[in-house]
Amino acid sequence: MQHNVQGEPRGQHFLLSKEVRDFTLWDIAQMSEEECFWKFVELRWGNIEKVVCPDCGTIDRPYARLKRGQLRCRSCHHHFSPMVNSPFADRKMEFKKLMMAFSLYTASAKGVPALFMSRLLDMQDKTATALTGKLREVLLTERDDEILTGVIEVDGGYFCGKPRKANVRLKSTPADKQAAIQARLNGDPFPNRKPRNKQEAKNWAKRMKLRRVVMVLREIHPEKGNGAVKTRVAIAYSENADVAAKLARQLVEEKSTIMTDENAAYTVLSTWYDHRSVQHAFQYVDPDGVNENQAESFFTRMRRAEYGTFHGYRPKYLMDYAQEFAWREDMRRTTEHEKLKDLMGRLFNTGLSKWWRGYWQGINRAGEYEVVT
Ligand SMILES: [Zn+2]
Repeated sequence: MQHNVQGEPRGQHFLLSKEVRDFTLWDIAQMSEEECFWKFVELRWGNIEKVVCPDCGTIDRPYARLKRGQLRCRSCHHHFSPMVNSPFADRKMEFKKLMMAFSLYTASAKGVPALFMSRLLDMQDKTATALTGKLREVLLTERDDEILTGVIEVDGGYFCGKPRKANVRLKSTPADKQAAIQARLNGDPFPNRKPRNKQEAKNWAKRMKLRRVVMVLREIHPEKGNGAVKTRVAIAYSENADVAAKLARQLVEEKSTIMTDENAAYTVLSTWYDHRSVQHAFQYVDPDGVNENQAESFFTRMRRAEYGTFHGYRPKYLMDYAQEFAWREDMRRTTEHEKLKDLMGRLFNTGLSKWWRGYWQGINRAGEYEVVT
């Protein structure tokens, strides 16, 4: 078992402790609507005495108009909601229900299906779909972007168009497996097994059009056994040298150490970085300690959510989900209140929702989000 810097068993210790449960769904269940209203005020302005009026800029403790769910500025008498200029500005549901929805979302490890949320919190499925969509929009538009440095693991995982990976499809015979390994060594994402019949060829072509690769870059904690600390994601059509170079140059400080698998797409990285690779097909950790466990752990979480929570991703919103899981990974060692606070911080910086405000009226994002080529 690996240990953290204090010498305690890693991971489990913290997540099982009482300290992590500092603001739970149960706590919210016992709060009144009024308490939840003030809790949002506090989460937004840090303090209910120092609320900034969105109209005149006065900083003061506002009056509350609880029946209307609004605050009133002491100076200009402007009415405003604690959710003003946020994706939930046009909120109609109770503050308590909204806070319960956020808590459910942040506490979950593998994401919350909209239908499940709608049943649990008694809201329409459409409402829950827009609510969770808005939260992913918040995490995506307000994602961290400072440059990664030190030791960074980089990898790609195929999603949407199945079959995804050569070694999954071709695991049936030893010869097929050898072909998959060879394709991987050559940097080809797919080995050349021929479709068995016309129908299969048609299906493959259809799926291939939907196929996208999620690229993940994770900065590893300098002390061993602490996992990754910062995660960046991007979407591409394939795992190739142009994509690898572009992303690394944009997101990783020059001369850092980059660890990848043996895919030929990554050899280009040695131009700017100390590039090391591990041969997945033969070893999990090579004798020098080069491994890719953190990138793998990200994909495991995203894959489990694909099968168990969302039952598949669509290319259009794949980046939104990838960023959701990057955030979940990076927040995995924080308490429930810290997660909620982090999410609210981003939420109140977002402004009105661009993609979900008129979603059910047919106004939504035109296409996929920034596919790297
Ligand atoms: Zn005012």
